[in-house]
Amino acid sequence: MKFFLANWKMHKTIGEALEFIDEFIPLVKDVSNKEIALAPTFLCLEKVHEALKGTNIKLCAQNVFYEKQGAYTGEISPLMLKDVGVDYVIVGHSERRKYFQENDEIINKKIKACNENGLKVIICIGETLEERQKNRTFEILKKQIIRGLEGISNFNNITIAYEPVWAIGTGIVANELQIKEAHLFIKEQLKEFAPKNSIRILYGGSVTADNIKKIMNIENVDGVLVGGASLNPVNFAKIIKYED
Ligand code: PEP
Repeated sequence: MKFFLANWKMHKTIGEALEFIDEFIPLVKDVSNKEIALAPTFLCLEKVHEALKGTNIKLCAQNVFYEKQGAYTGEISPLMLKDVGVDYVIVGHSERRKYFQENDEIINKKIKACNENGLKVIICIGETLEERQKNRTFEILKKQIIRGLEGISNFNNITIAYEPVWAIGTGIVANELQIKEAHLFIKEQLKEFAPKNSIRILYGGSVTADNIKKIMNIENVDGVLVGGASLNPVNFAKIIKYED
């Protein structure tokens, strides 16, 4: 099923999140053949979970820590996320890699911890502008996949999001060829890990209602991860309900 994930990043108070949901639920209630998820901040998860009960919208966290419990000030464990009704967790977003020094080893531990706790994971990978300009895109994607997935045997709960860092929040969308090549490359790499598994590959980076159709029509694009354009319920609903 095609997947549409909203990443709200550090936006929306609880009240604002609930206002969004009130407006959003009726807009997408008839969508049955697509998977929809919202990733609010940790603080909103519990209330958003209550508000989404009985709907076709899933709950996603933006981050997680890999330990079960302990002296890790400010962190949240997979079990704690499960406890508030989280279905999915975004792991390895480029903003976490850039501002919070998350590397592939940390990301790998987080993926394993989520797997152990039955949480589904969206693993973000992607090259920076400098890496693309130096023709290192595939090398970077390969490294992120190999290191991120090391030692993982259960791929049922895994989704990959290809997010070229230079396209996130910039208004610059990767072109059709760039997306096609990257998704095909990722798909081939994933076969090494999980030959029989059809792991979904999402695209993320300045997706809007205006470019969604073009993006979704690219081969091996199984959905989108949407930041800025998901903050408004009408805009995000338009993206989900794009006409083929
Ligand atoms: C993101 O948050 O991962 C993202 C792709 O953001 P935006 O859609 O704003 O580029």
